[in-house]
Amino acid sequence: MATIKAIEDRSVHQITSGQVIVDLCSVVKELVENSLDAGATSVDVRFKNYGLDSVEVQDNGKGIAPVDFDTIALKHYTSKLSNYDDLTLLETFGFRGEALSSLCALSKFHIVTAQGSDGPKGKKLKFEVSGKLKGTSVVAAQRGTTVAVESLFNNLPVRRRELEKNIKREYGKVLSILQAYACICTGARLSVSNQMQKGKKVLVFSTKSNPTTKENITNVFGAKTLLALVELNLNLDMQPSKGPGTQSGKIWSSQDDSSSTQVQVVGHISRPAFGEGRQAPDRQMFFVNSRPCGLPQVAKAINEVYKSFNVTQSPFVFANLIMDTHAYDVNVSPDKRTILLHDQTALIDLLKLSLTRLFESYDYSVPQSQL
Ligand code: ADP
Ligand code: MG
Repeated sequence: MATIKAIEDRSVHQITSGQVIVDLCSVVKELVENSLDAGATSVDVRFKNYGLDSVEVQDNGKGIAPVDFDTIALKHYTSKLSNYDDLTLLETFGFRGEALSSLCALSKFHIVTAQGSDGPKGKKLKFEVSGKLKGTSVVAAQRGTTVAVESLFNNLPVRRRELEKNIKREYGKVLSILQAYACICTGARLSVSNQMQKGKKVLVFSTKSNPTTKENITNVFGAKTLLALVELNLNLDMQPSKGPGTQSGKIWSSQDDSSSTQVQVVGHISRPAFGEGRQAPDRQMFFVNSRPCGLPQVAKAINEVYKSFNVTQSPFVFANLIMDTHAYDVNVSPDKRTILLHDQTALIDLLKLSLTRLFESYDYSVPQSQL
């Protein structure tokens, strides 16, 4: 008798879902990204019991059309990408159509959505574990979408226990991720609240639909933090390598070579000066074309340069790398936080050079009182 057999569909769904939604951070990240992809200018993230009981993300985006109710939570159904070639032009956070279907498999999950054309009325959608639509009912709702995730991982006992055991640490990580979205999103306000059992709802932080990241940073980290930062605006031009011994890049000049890759690094970093009274927290946030991500090699390079100007502190870093979508790959890990930069070595060399020049030109004579 054959010993190799196919795993039943339901189990496959659960296994693959557990790879997309690995923890509370992935839930929150996927839902906030969906809201932003839907053109929301207001996003509220509400936790109950740090997310152990529920996480709800409410937006005022375009809502979901009734024709899409049946497919919205099916695996690999997306409104954002239809073939692999689209991936290089991608301007949305999502593209795999996996988040909602995974959440159906891993939690008690429902959606309330309204497109605003039907007065203050919307639909509440409930789903099977497979992502198939189970039923709809009419509810009061403003334009936008609210996605509610309750009892995350209840059907994966080991993971649920891990979540319960480490919830404080996990919640801290979630807040860091949300801070990054709140700071990068100009034109959209983001608020985060938590409510403990029988306790009052506590606002953790919120931004105000600000036009600049500077104002967002002030809302999230406070005005004192902003005063301790300098602006980053570095233009890096990576020339294609011309063989051994040739320089692989230069600081961006006005005569740009069309075959080169240009990267602009914009954001904010702690002032390099020694011994200043005001300090920013050592939070570090990296983005590629405003997509929050981990860039460990870039982080290491920035920290190295900073350390050569200030040995005593780690810097606050908020760095957005703006570049052509062909110059990187976001499809590396299921959570899309790992981004492969095609020209990373050249980029890092130039970044170090350029940041060193910025810090060397920093005016150390700025009076303390103005800092
Ligand atoms: P993806 O974001 O990769 O497309 P998801 O499973 O996260 O996959 O979402 C599936 C689809 O559901 C999206 O393509 C989008 O059309 C719709 N959707 C999800 N969240 C929202 C939302 N908050 N507002 C409007 N549409 C949404
Ligand atoms: Mg998505």
